[in-house]
Amino acid sequence: MKYEIKRIGYFSVFKLVLTIGLVVGIVLGVILGALTGAGFVPYGNSIGGISLRGAGVAFGVIMGVVGGILWAILAAIVSMIYVFLYNLAAGLVGGIEVELEGEKPSRICPNCGYKLPEDAEFCPNCGAKVGL
Ligand SMILES: [Zn+2]
Repeated sequence: MKYEIKRIGYFSVFKLVLTIGLVVGIVLGVILGALTGAGFVPYGNSIGGISLRGAGVAFGVIMGVVGGILWAILAAIVSMIYVFLYNLAAGLVGGIEVELEGEKPSRICPNCGYKLPEDAEFCPNCGAKVGL
């Protein structure tokens, strides 16, 4: 089964990117912040103009969390621009094509609820016309 992604939902991308960004951003932020705060990182690492270099591990960790959250929000906002551009471009030249494999959802007779054979025109159970 071939499908085409015509339009991407903004909110679905936003919450996904935000979640990934928060996890990755905070983990990296805490590690980098702790190292920088302890003075292990040779270059000055600052968040919002506040230098972390040699400022202490605790301060580095706190700023790392803040930096991670800011980074995640920024990434989520930037991703909205990509979604907007994707939807725009997909409307012009067609979206990403994906091929899905798996069982076809079986059709059910609207009259009696019988599970229909794939090519049935009439329900074998009650005889109602189910079309194709
Ligand atoms: Zn039926």
